[in-house]
Amino acid sequence: MLLVVFATMAMMVASIAMSALDRVASYANHLDEERSRQTLVGAIQTFEHQLGATLIDYTAWDDAATNAYVNKDMAWMISNFGDMTFDSDLFDVAIVLDAEGRPMMAYSDGQPLDGAVKGYITPALMGLFDKVRSGQSGLMPQTLGFIRTQKGIGSAGVALIRPKSGEIGQPPENYVYLAFIRHLSSSTVERLSEAYVLPGLALVPPSTNATSVAISSPTGEAIASLAWTPRAPGDQGREQVEPLIKAALVIVAIYALLLIVIGNSEMRRVRADEANAVKLAQTDRLSGLLNRAGLNQLLEDEVRRGRDAREDVVLLYLDLDGFKEVNDAYGHATGDRLIRAVAAGLSVLVGENAGLARIGGDEFGIVLTGKDVQERAFVLADAIIAFFDEPVLLGERTVVVGCSIGICVSEGGQVEGGELTRRADMAMYSSKDGGRGRWTIYDPRMDEERESRNHMEVDLRQAIGLGEIDVVYQPVVDAKTFTLVSVEALARWNRKGHGPVSPDVFIPIAESSGLIDQLGLCVLSQALRQLSHWPELKLSVNVSPGQFRDPGFVDHVAATFDEARIAPGRIVLEMTETYFIQSPERARIAMERLRGLGLRIALDDFGAGFSSVGYLRQFGFDRMKIDRSLVQSLDRGHRSVEMLQATVALARSLGIPVTAEGVETEQQAVILRIAGCDQLQGYLFGRPQSPEEIDALMLRPMELRAKAAELAFAASRDGGLQS
Ligand code: C2E
Ligand code: MG
Ligand code: MG
Repeated sequence: MLLVVFATMAMMVASIAMSALDRVASYANHLDEERSRQTLVGAIQTFEHQLGATLIDYTAWDDAATNAYVNKDMAWMISNFGDMTFDSDLFDVAIVLDAEGRPMMAYSDGQPLDGAVKGYITPALMGLFDKVRSGQSGLMPQTLGFIRTQKGIGSAGVALIRPKSGEIGQPPENYVYLAFIRHLSSSTVERLSEAYVLPGLALVPPSTNATSVAISSPTGEAIASLAWTPRAPGDQGREQVEPLIKAALVIVAIYALLLIVIGNSEMRRVRADEANAVKLAQTDRLSGLLNRAGLNQLLEDEVRRGRDAREDVVLLYLDLDGFKEVNDAYGHATGDRLIRAVAAGLSVLVGENAGLARIGGDEFGIVLTGKDVQERAFVLADAIIAFFDEPVLLGERTVVVGCSIGICVSEGGQVEGGELTRRADMAMYSSKDGGRGRWTIYDPRMDEERESRNHMEVDLRQAIGLGEIDVVYQPVVDAKTFTLVSVEALARWNRKGHGPVSPDVFIPIAESSGLIDQLGLCVLSQALRQLSHWPELKLSVNVSPGQFRDPGFVDHVAATFDEARIAPGRIVLEMTETYFIQSPERARIAMERLRGLGLRIALDDFGAGFSSVGYLRQFGFDRMKIDRSLVQSLDRGHRSVEMLQATVALARSLGIPVTAEGVETEQQAVILRIAGCDQLQGYLFGRPQSPEEIDALMLRPMELRAKAAELAFAASRDGGLQS
């Protein structure tokens, strides 16, 4: 491109310079031509005037007048006029005419003309003669003019022979005239050429050529031209200067070309540097894949291309399941190795013709384009999920992670990159919510769900502010006696205009929106107030990991206790393992401070998640609650029973008492009691209920005891199970 611009410019400069040179040259030529013309015109006039001067010398002459009129001496005239035509520079033809115009004597080049005189006494010469004879020639009885004779073109002049005084003393019919002709012979022309520096001067037929001057007869008719060879000094000058200018142009061109070549290579280097910098800015250092910025750029490009080619673009949004646990359990170095291993695995699965990026943390993005892209995306998603079924080997260590995938299609490139990412991300969350290890295609309803979740958040905030969160209490009984020993406080929200909302729905919303701090304290203070009515009961309150993150959490709890005047020893805070996994150090510190207040801490929902007995040991929980799912699996048979027995035994060996949750059947109750659980909780003994219902339950303790007796009987009947 630059080269084309340069070439055009160079050509323009060269043509301007050359045309300037042309102009100077042609101007110089023109000037010289003009000068030559003026010189030649002058030369012709001079040539004629010379003849005129000669003619005066010969005719206004007393001797000539005497010999013409008095002596009538022909011999005198021959020797003074005729003979003078021989080898003369002044005239080469001399003719003496009488008053009638008849030749009395005619000589040319020193020889008498005799019969040939007709070739000289032409009508043009006679015209000059008539002019003199009739007195039309003015003051002087003499006329001049160019004529054509048989010898060629010449200047002719006719004059009356007279004494110096002008007094002829004869009548006009005796008058004698003298005619001279001076021919423009080739030697004469050559001499003119030399004298006036007009090279190549030659007599030519009449011409209008710029380098010629016309010679006209007295009647104005062009009878010949004198032409010269133009010297063209401009052309000569140009011939001298042109090579120099050309050389200068070539030097300038070479210099400019060098500049361009150097500039170009410099520009290429800068561009390469820039491209490298962009590439670096778009590369993830850990995995070597594209990073988020790189993915955004790729999506932008592909979507634009897709729109032009009416092709679909698909984004797969991946998030690893359980990565955080691996990172927390084995450290960041292992986490990094896992990311690299996953990146390598995905690169192989994805292949060459798709874009792969690490969006951040444990999230990856894959961009697919081309034919049958949707089908290919589904096949790839299946393959990725199957890939994660296998444990990943990291040196000595084997870790198990899964993958949740969200898929979104930009049909014909109609969905922009940013929106495509948002949708695929949402679909990925839907995979997570749906139980992880799966792929989900984006559905516009997901936006509606997100919307309704947002509305719910607004309503929840308001409900907490207005004290509309209720607390219900679920009985916890002693496993041996079935006497009511404790209650678990559970939050309830009757959403205005919608009805009751499950805690499994609104607790996660409270957690993600930061409302959980307020909500947790609200439940705690209500429950503590209620507990003052039940002096013989203990109380469990659930605490979310989110609450732990609030630095003022422990102080808030302490303040609530002071206010309620309840002995902290009666309270158990239930926590799930999540926070202990995420931030073990902070969890330990918070736990110690809570313990310092006199509270006890239970590990809730044991067996529902990553659950390791290691946590029990590491953090020294005061109680463990076996999750409902584990209890309900007892119905499925032997192995579950054994597993549960082993778990409870392990906890007891650490001195940690165990509560079983979600006990619904008598059979479950029997097994759990035998396994070693000291407390039971579940619909069998009572659903979460209002304080009034708990009051009523306390008034009829016999009901629970009867159930215990019945159970004891059933147990002994079924095979002598010991309590
Ligand atoms: P959780 O702490 O494990 O509470 C026990 C859940 O099991 C309660 O569900 C209870 O109704 C249910 N449950 C008890 N016995 C049975 C049974 O025999 N069968 C069945 N199918 N379910 C039984 P709920 O009240 O829906 O609460 C769900 C979860 O919400 C709680 O699980 C707890 O994690 C959370 N939650 C409830 N209230 C609060 C609160 O005030 N703060 C916090 N942070 N979390 C709360
Ligand atoms: Mg609980
Ligand atoms: Mg629980």
